[in-house]
Amino acid sequence: MKTLLHEMSWVEARKYFIQNDFAILPVGSTEQHGPHNPLGTDHLIARALAEEVAKLTNTICLPVIPFGVSPHHRQFWGTISINSTVFKEYVTQVLLSLKYYNVRKVVVVNGHGGNADALREAARKMREKHEMFVSVFQWWPAATKLQPKLFNSEERGHAAGEETSMNLALHPRLVNMKAAVNEKPKKPLAESDGIITWIFDTTDYTKSGVFGVAKSASIKRGKKDFEAVVEELVKHVNTLKKMKMKDLLAKNLVD
Ligand SMILES: [Zn+2]
Repeated sequence: MKTLLHEMSWVEARKYFIQNDFAILPVGSTEQHGPHNPLGTDHLIARALAEEVAKLTNTICLPVIPFGVSPHHRQFWGTISINSTVFKEYVTQVLLSLKYYNVRKVVVVNGHGGNADALREAARKMREKHEMFVSVFQWWPAATKLQPKLFNSEERGHAAGEETSMNLALHPRLVNMKAAVNEKPKKPLAESDGIITWIFDTTDYTKSGVFGVAKSASIKRGKKDFEAVVEELVKHVNTLKKMKMKDLLAKNLVD
């Protein structure tokens, strides 16, 4: 069965939506990932994970939303940022289009941390106002939990060894390892501590856009990372598929 919505005809989509109330939506960003990784890193990884899991679970997968909330990277050329209000509304409109075809459960596969707040708000609104249940899956915390030793903490930063390894495994021709750098992030003027939040940009921390060690990246570790996350995401999709809509929906006013 075809699983990519944009490759189906409306006749094929009709067949799927009549039988299924479930879909996967990948979202990411177009933003700097150091001098060696493509600007599309976050949306390319989210798309690859979502498409693979869609195949393995016979679920429809939407085209990736390639732009996200990335104002903190704007000083690096080519970063395209959408404000969180517009991003949230855009995602909501996509979800409402799915609802029109009777989709009630959606897993959003997010590739960019800056999107998290807006996605959480959109998911909450869908449950409160539109009787849909949307979960948000983020691959990097899953990867760290599943294989804590595969990368060290300096390799887990933005554009560092882990993301670079994922890129090497998924689309090696887009990575220029000769340009890869290791950069220890600078201490900013002040650090957020859970009491006070300080807002800085990536340029306040690094020259290259890399947070940590990128040169150690490898295809082998990228593949291992990808496979582990796919397995976890398959589990989540299957769990949510089995859950009953009546249990997932918001409860009524208490007596
Ligand atoms: Zn990234």
